[in-house]
Amino acid sequence: MSKTFTREEVARHASESDLWIVIDTDVYDLTDFADIHPGGLFPLMQVAGKDATSDFYGMHKQEVLIKFNRYKIGTIANEKRQIHMYEAGDLSNVPFGESSYFMGYRSPYYNERHVQFRKAMRKIVDSLKEQAQEYEASGEGASDEFTQTLGKHGLLAANLGPDAVRLLPPGIELPGGITRDEFDYFYEIIVHEEFTRLVAPGLCTGVLSALAISLPTVILYAKPHIKAKVLPEVLTGKKRMALAITEPYTGSDVANIKTTAKLSADGSHYIVNGVKKWISGGRFADYFSTAVRTDKGISMLLIDRSEGLETKAIKTSYSQAAGTAYVTFDNVKVPVENLLGVENEGFKVVLSNFNHERFIMLCGASMSARNVIRECFLWAHQRKVFGKRLIDQPVIRNKLARMISQMEAQHAWLENLTFQMNHMSHKEQAIKLAGPLALCKFQMTRMLQSVADDACQILGGRALTQTGMGRSIETLQRTNKFSAILGGSEEIMADLGVRQAMKYFPRDARL
Ligand SMILES: Cc1cc2nc3c(=O)[nH]c(=O)nc-3n(C[C@H](O)[C@H](O)[C@H](O)COP(=O)(O)OP(=O)(O)OC[C@H]3O[C@@H](n4cnc5c(N)ncnc54)[C@H](O)[C@@H]3O)c2cc1C
Repeated sequence: MSKTFTREEVARHASESDLWIVIDTDVYDLTDFADIHPGGLFPLMQVAGKDATSDFYGMHKQEVLIKFNRYKIGTIANEKRQIHMYEAGDLSNVPFGESSYFMGYRSPYYNERHVQFRKAMRKIVDSLKEQAQEYEASGEGASDEFTQTLGKHGLLAANLGPDAVRLLPPGIELPGGITRDEFDYFYEIIVHEEFTRLVAPGLCTGVLSALAISLPTVILYAKPHIKAKVLPEVLTGKKRMALAITEPYTGSDVANIKTTAKLSADGSHYIVNGVKKWISGGRFADYFSTAVRTDKGISMLLIDRSEGLETKAIKTSYSQAAGTAYVTFDNVKVPVENLLGVENEGFKVVLSNFNHERFIMLCGASMSARNVIRECFLWAHQRKVFGKRLIDQPVIRNKLARMISQMEAQHAWLENLTFQMNHMSHKEQAIKLAGPLALCKFQMTRMLQSVADDACQILGGRALTQTGMGRSIETLQRTNKFSAILGGSEEIMADLGVRQAMKYFPRDARL
């Protein structure tokens, strides 16, 4: 049992050499911590021997208490805890802090198995968060151990969706005891949502998105023996992969790529020459699914990191842990068996995964907004200015209203599209969902930018500070444009959505 103290006893430890404080009902001895407190000794001396609850939560997230739990020496006798301490896997009870089913509302889409899965997955993500944020800050790529931990839990495959989960090597179990057959697109939403809680968008791009956009080209189009080799390596995190389409000359306009692949005289291999730009995960990739120009069109090749292939880092607004790379192919020899799909029909391969890529981005964007809204809601209750809590200011409540309603509207559309995906073949999805997914992404990233903007105003200076209370908000305001440009920019998404609708427009309809 932990030691108990009275508040009078705590008050006797109020000097630099003997410094205790109380937070809620927990007593901390900070004598040894004072030297390493990033804010210095002064703020600690303001609360030495006293109740520091309000000061603490006015400046720090609860995760700081959890991290420095070793300084806790006991509790206040006969007092009841007022503040809930987060435990790994806990769901939030802050209004709108989780999607509605996970807050006790009815849903046609989820059941208790999804709750089980989310909690189990959240525990895994919580256990990786500190490490992930270190990679994000240092710009190092994730260690093999980190990616292999994800692989061990089946999460590299889960990040690619139900089809990839069914291809997992034997012996790998999904979190929460969910079976491979149960895992559908609603479980997949949870996967992408939970990863946003790492607050490490660069790292997540390097480890997860790079894989999610590249490996499907192998799953769908590689020769069986290539698949048999590459899938187990990549799904267990032993090898990494990237998708290399964009070039300095051409981004949105994929058809204009200039990288060439010329068949050798004996027809045994291609010789690839050219450059690719902004390739996520490229710095760390072992395999590159690469768009090339062959004699009569575009083809896709699976290219190993081999002689003549070089990668250089490109610095972007998020962490270099994303592995964003400039890739050079200088007479790279690629066996013909590495052709993905049919020669000159690579466009089909390129297009095959666009819808799913956009779905992933929708899940991430929606939850990133939700996470930030939850933090703003909490902050507005904790922060006092001019003698009032922020939440007591109508203008702040108005901002929260806009953030919540925009985010929930988008999320409801996402869930509707997910339901359609669960009940349609890939072919039907390609016909019926390409347009709506594009429009949903267009509006989702508009929403994300608006939420990031309002969140900044609510957090103030902390929203511009990379550590501390505003970390998630600072991250979102710095990185929200990534989803507005990658995977099809807003302009392209809006246009595609309307053009798709025009394709199926009834010829006999009149106003
Ligand atoms: C960090 C990062 C990671 C990336 N990762 C990868 C990756 O892993 N693999 C890969 O292959 N590529 C990757 N890309 C490239 C990305 O897909 C392209 O940036 C994107 O396709 C847009 O191309 P662009 O930047 O050349 O813009 P451009 O095509 O030059 O377009 C510039 C602007 O004009 C607008 N525009 C273009 N055409 C039209 C039109 N017809 N009508 C109206 N507006 C239009 C666009 O919306 C855009 O805002 C990445 C890019 C970045 C920045």
